[in-house]
Amino acid sequence: MMPDTRTKINVRGVCFDNVTLAEAAMRLRESVSQGRTETVFTPNSEIVQACIDDPSLYPVVNASTLTIPDGIGVVKAARILGTPLKGKVAGVELGREVLAFAAEDKIPVYLLGGKPGVAETAADKLRGEIANLPIVGTGDGYFEKTGSANDTVIEKINASGAEILFVCLGAPLQEKWIIENRDRMPRVRVFLGLGGSLDVYAGTVKRAPALFIHLGLEWFYRLLREPRRIGRMMQLPKFYFGTWMYKLNGKK
Ligand code: UDP
Repeated sequence: MMPDTRTKINVRGVCFDNVTLAEAAMRLRESVSQGRTETVFTPNSEIVQACIDDPSLYPVVNASTLTIPDGIGVVKAARILGTPLKGKVAGVELGREVLAFAAEDKIPVYLLGGKPGVAETAADKLRGEIANLPIVGTGDGYFEKTGSANDTVIEKINASGAEILFVCLGAPLQEKWIIENRDRMPRVRVFLGLGGSLDVYAGTVKRAPALFIHLGLEWFYRLLREPRRIGRMMQLPKFYFGTWMYKLNGKK
C-alpha cells in the first residue's frame, strides 16, 4: 500500500505534501501508469514569502496536485508551526527520479526552459547518465509567454508526444505558465515546475557539495556562487523570523 501522501501541511498559506523523495516519485510513477494528470510545484521559502507579500500568488502556487518543500526554510517553518514535514525534497532530485522511471517505463519527456542551448546540453548529459532515456524534445525558456510564440511552443510539445514536461522558467513564472497552459497539452501526464534544474543537469550551475546539503546550508553555497541572489535571499530571514512572530501571535 502506498502511504497516504495526500495530507497537506499548510505553511503560511502554501499547502505542502508531507512526502519523502521516494514517495513523491512513486506517486508520480503510479499516476502516469494510471493515466492521472499531476502538476508538481517545488516552492522554497522565497516563494512562500512572495505569496505572503503578494497574496494574489497563493491561488497560483496552490494550483498544483503535488507540492514538495524544496528548501530547508520551509521545513524549519513547518516545525516552528507545530506541523512538521518529513524533510526537504529537492526539485532537482525529484526530476532525476522522474527521469529514471521515465527511462524504465518508456515515457516520453520534454525539457523546457533555461537559456538557449541549456536544455539540449542537459538532454545530452542526461542521456549519457540514464540508459534509454526517451527525451523527445527540448526548448529554451526565453519565448513570449502569450500569443503566437507561446502557441508555437505548445504545438511543439504536443507534436513531440511528451507525457512528462519539465518547465524550468523560475518561480513564479513557471507556475503561472503551467496553470495557464496545461489544459492545452492533453497528452502530458506530469507537469513539473523545476526552477534552475536544467542548469544543474547541463552543468552550467553546480549544486552545493554534499556537506553543505547535509548541514542545510545549500542556500549559503548558492549565495557564495551567485552573489546577485542576495536580494532574493534576504527573504529567508524575513520568512524565518516572520514565522516565529506568526507562531507567537497564536496563529497556525
Ligand atoms: N528562465 C527561463 N525563461 C525566463 C526566465 C528564466 O527559462 O523567461 C530560466 C533561467 O534561465 C534559469 C531558470 O529559469 O535557468 C531560473 O532558475 P532559478 O535558479 O532562478 O530558479 P528559481 O530559484 O526561481 O526556482
